[in-house]
Amino acid sequence: MGLFSRKKNIETPNGESKKVEIPDGMWEKCPNCLEIIYSKTLQKNQMVCPKCDYHFRIGVEERIRLMLDEGSFKEFNTEITSIDPLNFKDTKKYIDRISGAVKKTNRKSAFITLEGKIDGKSIALGILDFAFLGGSMGSVVGEKITRMVEYAIEKRLPVIIVSGSGGARMQESILSLMQMAKTSAALGRLSKEKLPFISILTDPTTGGVTASFAMLGDINIAEPRALIGFAGPRVIQQTIKQDLPEGFQRSEFLQEHGMIDMIVPRAKIKETLSKLLEYLMVYE
Ligand SMILES: [Zn+2]
Repeated sequence: MGLFSRKKNIETPNGESKKVEIPDGMWEKCPNCLEIIYSKTLQKNQMVCPKCDYHFRIGVEERIRLMLDEGSFKEFNTEITSIDPLNFKDTKKYIDRISGAVKKTNRKSAFITLEGKIDGKSIALGILDFAFLGGSMGSVVGEKITRMVEYAIEKRLPVIIVSGSGGARMQESILSLMQMAKTSAALGRLSKEKLPFISILTDPTTGGVTASFAMLGDINIAEPRALIGFAGPRVIQQTIKQDLPEGFQRSEFLQEHGMIDMIVPRAKIKETLSKLLEYLMVYE
């Protein structure tokens, strides 16, 4: 998204139209209904279009602000970062892609792990950062999820993961595919310990992330109209040579077909999680 235009036509008092410069980032265009929205209005509305309810993609900081009690959290395992064991190169060297993502996001990996509180209730929270190589899951993401789950078991905490991802990180080939089994096994141990896992799927959650931990929640929650699937609609359409139903792979369609338990708008996510935690956990 971003700016729709740096110049905007305004009416002058004598009825003439005049182009004026608009400062960067003052307006956003809704990709769904094409409405032009004042940035501050959008921010006040948790980055949800006031006209059509489209949920814009948000960053890690906004996600934390939305979910956790102010000042209640600490991040851990911040220093783990990817290496390039396969010496992989496509149009660009993988190692350069990693350093580019580190510079862009100011974080060392695509997965952020925190311990924090929701209405005073302690949780372990993981967030996939779509801004970091499309939130793709390589060895580091798998390792950080596993460590977070092990930490949660040790501290008797419920686990919440917010996903937004293009899937497994192809530059790590089989090593990234192995993370699907590794994260699933870790969550299996969490389940044996009778600790809940709530998965939150945001736009877009696809590929190996959907095919592993993101769909393993005791409760799977999606944001409205998020694209959630394994292969993209175009690939499926070309493979089965049939037209796909309307709204295919969107949250609402998936809920209707039993893949998603709840669709929760952003404004209600914290109070919903708070209630679910009360049902699922015993807090003294
Ligand atoms: Zn809209």
